[in-house]
Amino acid sequence: MRAGGSGEGRVPQDTATRRPLIAGNWKMHGRMADAMALVRALERQRAAAGAMPFDMLVCPPATLVGAVAAELADSPIAVGGQDCHGEAEGAFTGDISAPMLADAGASHVILGHSERRHGLGESDALVRTKANAAHAAGLVAVVCIGETEAERDAGRTLDVLSAQIEGSLPPDGIGPSNTVIAYEPVWAIGTGRTPTLEQVAEAHGHIRARLAARIGDQGVRVLYGGSVKPANADELMAVADVDGALVGGASLNAEDFWAIARACPGS
Ligand code: PEP
Repeated sequence: MRAGGSGEGRVPQDTATRRPLIAGNWKMHGRMADAMALVRALERQRAAAGAMPFDMLVCPPATLVGAVAAELADSPIAVGGQDCHGEAEGAFTGDISAPMLADAGASHVILGHSERRHGLGESDALVRTKANAAHAAGLVAVVCIGETEAERDAGRTLDVLSAQIEGSLPPDGIGPSNTVIAYEPVWAIGTGRTPTLEQVAEAHGHIRARLAARIGDQGVRVLYGGSVKPANADELMAVADVDGALVGGASLNAEDFWAIARACPGS
């Protein structure tokens, strides 16, 4: 099993070029046999493809993180959790901490997904606490932000993104080695709808400017997420300031997930 919690992460970080990252969020899908079949199929795709000019991350349900990490121990494909608690341990029945994810072989953790922000009431402050916990455990925090449809219709998208960046990210110690941002319009997740390419470019340009102002860093990768499929990946991955994708539904199919990765510039 890979070493966890060392801070070294399995995904190389290229701050100069912002090497694309294709991340799969399996959500609450998959049992052991499904997970093994999926990662073995991904590995076959990888072996057949040869060069891999992008980083790849899969985030299975917590029950499968250890087994998937063990299966991918010799692979460049990294493994992440889908959430963690803000404390390292304690009386928090049902929760999983960042050190536990690292111990199971994870190098990353998704935080602040809209299904937790809007489904479970997670606040920016809570996401920030979790990001701190992830960093302390040596995990890369993949922090999700994005506007609801009502917020977009009200012309508030950029303000919402600014507030989420300000509130969800720890004030210090953020950089490409420990943080990835995923821009995921809430209304695009699992709906088959996507923003226009101009809207994607506007949001990503804004996020990049806010990151530069907040942490003075241009190396943190900003992924697009929301109904990314093989059919739209080419155009989405070509948008300025899009450094890869966070993929939900299509990440459960190895061919589709790989096809999305192959849409990254340079592939
Ligand atoms: C997600 O769950 O983060 C996501 C983007 O889902 P989908 O690709 O299915 O829209």
